[in-house]
Amino acid sequence: MTNSRQENVDHSEIAKFEALASRWWDRNSEFKPLHDINPLRMGYIDSIVNVAGKKVLDVGCGGGILTEALAHRGARVTGIDMGEAPLSVARLHLLESGLEIDYQQNSAEEFARQYPGEFDVVCCLEMLEHVPDPASVLQSCHALLKPGGNLIVSTINRNPKSYLFAILGAEYILRLLPRGTHEYQKFIRPSELARFARQAGLQLQGERGMTYNPLSKKYRLSDDVDVNYLMHFSKAE
Ligand code: SAH
Repeated sequence: MTNSRQENVDHSEIAKFEALASRWWDRNSEFKPLHDINPLRMGYIDSIVNVAGKKVLDVGCGGGILTEALAHRGARVTGIDMGEAPLSVARLHLLESGLEIDYQQNSAEEFARQYPGEFDVVCCLEMLEHVPDPASVLQSCHALLKPGGNLIVSTINRNPKSYLFAILGAEYILRLLPRGTHEYQKFIRPSELARFARQAGLQLQGERGMTYNPLSKKYRLSDDVDVNYLMHFSKAE
């Protein structure tokens, strides 16, 4: 792996996901929240673009929860991640699902150098809050897109409410996630994400919140972007 040039990887973050990887497809594991929000995320993507037959890249794909949903819809999908164990799990899971996905261990930056302008759609979900320099990832996503292509990003907002829900609530009270999964200072405000994207040459097209109701234990798409949120950007024609 030649990623020494301008490396934008926090290896302690990668290690967190390596340690848990074997449970990635267990719906009752630490990855339950990702399984629970996946239909919402995929629904948001469906509302933007029909991915059937399109070339799609999933950046920070992990064990492949979204990657497989994209492939199920007929997309020609590549998944990249810096974690070796999550990728092994993702490849193994293809035996069960019978889907075809090209999984590669790589960073967005290096992949953008190799495949500029190749993808109709790039997804980068629940990954930016684990990266030292999220603006650099957005620049790479822009480079990877074809003109007119769509980028879908999701992450966690940074404010007292998101601290309460995403860290205290999820890691300490409800114990949905292991302690230390998220670091508050790495959360990204929608205005910051929009600025990074604008600086990368991307146009903001829309945003949606993913809201968790601790009583019903359900997530839904909403206009409330205070905690988890999705954003849609496009690259100029
Ligand atoms: N996008 C997937 C997984 C989210 S978990 C989903 O939403 O279902 C975050 C993933 O980001 C992990 O698999 C972790 O290994 C990966 N990751 C963290 N930093 C990364 C980096 N700098 N480059 C590539 N992948 C990274």
